[in-house]
Amino acid sequence: MIIVLRPHVSEEELNRVVEHVRELGLTPHVSRGVTRTIIGCIGDEDRLREAPLLTLPAVETILPVEKPYKLAAREFVAGETLVPLGQSSVGDGAVHAIAGPCSVEGPEMLLQTAESVKAAGAMALRGGAFKPRTSPYSFRGLGNSALDMLAEVRAETGLPVITEVLDTRHVTLVAEKVDCLQVGARNMQNFALLTEVGESGKPVLLKRGMSATLEDLLLAAEYILARGNPNVMLCERGIRTFERALRNTLDIGAVPYLKQETHLPVLVDPSHACGRRDLVPALALAAVAAGADGLLIEVHPDPEHASSDGDQSMHLDEFSALMEKVRDVAQALGRPTPAPTR
Ligand code: PEP
Ligand code: MN
Repeated sequence: MIIVLRPHVSEEELNRVVEHVRELGLTPHVSRGVTRTIIGCIGDEDRLREAPLLTLPAVETILPVEKPYKLAAREFVAGETLVPLGQSSVGDGAVHAIAGPCSVEGPEMLLQTAESVKAAGAMALRGGAFKPRTSPYSFRGLGNSALDMLAEVRAETGLPVITEVLDTRHVTLVAEKVDCLQVGARNMQNFALLTEVGESGKPVLLKRGMSATLEDLLLAAEYILARGNPNVMLCERGIRTFERALRNTLDIGAVPYLKQETHLPVLVDPSHACGRRDLVPALALAAVAAGADGLLIEVHPDPEHASSDGDQSMHLDEFSALMEKVRDVAQALGRPTPAPTR
């Protein structure tokens, strides 16, 4: 249920309503918009329905949330959720780019990639330390040493860093070293992991499972939000369909749909969606045109020799050229993009 307060209520009036909600045994989530404040309530809704809350002068109306997800629902929050990452926030209306190698392979290639994507306008560096691989015999990442490399490159370049966490036992360690935790497609419904990253309080980049519906994705986000962590970014990365020509099928309609359904930022990963570097630019631009808050793109200084996902990783100069086009599309839509720094 959502309690909508009258415009410009005082702090004291707000606190009285919040207290009332708590006394009923529900958990209030206060969200302040420009003119209006709303209180999302989680718990036994019957108790709220029976309580004479409408008699409180600050309360304008009480609305049900007819969705299985509550905290993730757009109605639950006044405005957009901004997820802080370094100096910027994803969800602020600008088109943000997060880029980096699928796997961290060593300090030199990581620094070279970071400097290049930063110069091209990327706002964060992403590199895998622990890699979920379909085959147990594939390269599975450098692990702890890659976390140290990410932390060093962050110190050198100032770029915030993101890496995937695969295991509940690693969450605390990974959260100490990076700025944002990625939960990958294969773990989107690992509910123990979602709970753990929720408790870490760190920004989370939650990728859509390859056979997950958008409702499944929003309910996965709800797990993180329900642990008190509001900093969740959703990421469409292509789903499995009958089509085999490309690695996955980019569900471009997911972008405007999610933007309507939730206040959380929505990113698109065109690299995993198509699996081919020559098609990444077209999908990236389509994502921006569809209203994505940002892009997650795999980039490598020598993709032909990459340890993982080389076929879909862009060369550094290709990424810079793409960022020019991203800026053109963003500008045409009246949306800002971070400027290149060179
Ligand atoms: C990745 O980002 O490198 C990755 C493994 O992605 P996904 O979980 O979307 O397959
Ligand atoms: Mn990858």
